[in-house]
Amino acid sequence: MTASALPILMYHHVSPAPGLVTVTPKNFVAQMAWLAANDYHTASCADLEGFLQGRPLPQRTVMITFDDGYLDNYVHAFPILRQYGLHAVIFAVTDWIGDGAARPHPVAGESGAPLLLNHNACTERIREGRADEAIVRWSEVECMRAAGSFEFQSHTASHTRWDKISGNAAEKSTALGRDLERSRETLRQRLGMLGTHLCWPQGYFDADYLSVARDQGFTHLYTTTPGSLRPDGDANKLPRIVVKDKGAAWFSSRIHLYSSPFLARWYGRLKGI
Ligand SMILES: [Zn+2]
Repeated sequence: MTASALPILMYHHVSPAPGLVTVTPKNFVAQMAWLAANDYHTASCADLEGFLQGRPLPQRTVMITFDDGYLDNYVHAFPILRQYGLHAVIFAVTDWIGDGAARPHPVAGESGAPLLLNHNACTERIREGRADEAIVRWSEVECMRAAGSFEFQSHTASHTRWDKISGNAAEKSTALGRDLERSRETLRQRLGMLGTHLCWPQGYFDADYLSVARDQGFTHLYTTTPGSLRPDGDANKLPRIVVKDKGAAWFSSRIHLYSSPFLARWYGRLKGI
């Protein structure tokens, strides 16, 4: 049996610091343990590309994605994914990632673990130009890539909503184009990769955004539109599912729902989404 729909899961924080868009390490372990116990395959970006080109995926497949590249992804999500042999994608905001040695890993028994901030405090630090206190460093990115737990793709260079601050459509497109180009160039220089997958900040995109992203060489664009991806789905508008701070029972019911295109459609109608 092969997958008729691919659920793409969306996370931000895995952290004990309570706040918005945060799953506790306890619930994240429960969710990942459920995937591993039920023999789920966690799709890479290449797997997703293949799926849209007609290459089948195992019936039990999900894709795990994280937005923004928070430090807690390195501290908490990374060891849990590694423990269960699972793979995820981080959509990184390249201007926010700093240099310096990889920070101590409390799960590995190293002392001097970094303080983890909640979502609002992270946003505040980034605004103050102190992103290093909230976001992973390049050394940590390398470590997570080397372990095979994470691959990295673009979430733009600056996470700016150009549609809100540009005076007109031409200005907006030029600014977004520069932003995307810088993010792609940074990923190329730092990681030696040609990033072609892009996740929109705050899920916002319009017709101009789509055309700028395609011009910049991005072929797979991730949204926050709920749903699961079918083999005939649109690479310009990849749907994702918000994962809540809940345990395995909620998680498994959601995966089952979104693995079935029929049920997902029916549920979508029911919820009016
Ligand atoms: Zn974001």
